[in-house]
Amino acid sequence: MFINPDKCVACGNCTYVCPMGAIYIDPQIRRATVNRDECVECYACYNGLSQEHLNPTVVRTMRRLFQMMRLRFDPEPDVCPTAAFEPDELVWPRVVRRAFSDPRVPHESTGVEGRGTEEVKTNDVSGRVQVGEVGFTIEFGRPGVGVWFREIQTACHMLARAGVSFEKKNPITSLMTDVSTGTLRDDIMNEKLMSAIVEIKVPVARTEEIVRLVWEIEKHVDTVVALGVGTRCDETGDETVVASILENLGYKLHRAKTNVGLGRITNVVEQAKPETAGAGR
Ligand code: SF4
Ligand code: SF4
Repeated sequence: MFINPDKCVACGNCTYVCPMGAIYIDPQIRRATVNRDECVECYACYNGLSQEHLNPTVVRTMRRLFQMMRLRFDPEPDVCPTAAFEPDELVWPRVVRRAFSDPRVPHESTGVEGRGTEEVKTNDVSGRVQVGEVGFTIEFGRPGVGVWFREIQTACHMLARAGVSFEKKNPITSLMTDVSTGTLRDDIMNEKLMSAIVEIKVPVARTEEIVRLVWEIEKHVDTVVALGVGTRCDETGDETVVASILENLGYKLHRAKTNVGLGRITNVVEQAKPETAGAGR
């Protein structure tokens, strides 16, 4: 994202909408400026503010005149009065920032649509996590912190050393040059994202080991980590196997969200097994 200094009138409105805190008023040029290292190309500034097309010279003059009278002339807080934002033409590798940070664009750089994953909540039709397995979604960077690919790399290396299997349809996995070691492409290491989700699955017996490993990963990355655990409920809608392991680890479990829907089972092999059919939970 780029702010045209010829148009910007330094009203400061955009500094409040950037989730990464990447926009600041540069005191030397007295214009809003984007810190390109920190910008994750989420377009929240460009799309979140209404763009007015006032004449920058007129707005600056009025602001100065009002200032002389110890008054303020500020645009409405949700507008850029002079349409000063100019999105860059993004090329590789910077384009991955946008793919992982703006949920409204398809994942062109990875070939996977959406923010990252066929989520656990569609498991009853996708059949990704089977009876006896536990799926983990390990999310880095959200809310409002962001994450560098080099930090995701650290996490993936640690997970790979534990011998987990990475989900094939996940965009982080698609950026690996070696899935067995969890090694990501070299040229994306210095790209920053709003957030990213690494997905793995393991047998139920490894649940505690993986949770403890994620606790260890947290010590090696400078961002927020959120852990999601996905399992299959039994025919009564309860889950008693993994839930007790998590409770022993100190988590308090609450039924927070139930997804119910009709869907065609896409995992044909599993269609014959009665326990895989039914509503998502
Ligand atoms: S909202 Fe527009 S005019 Fe105001 S500081 Fe930001 S870029 Fe400049
Ligand atoms: S594109 Fe997103 S991260 Fe970049 S300056 Fe705009 S709001 Fe901030």
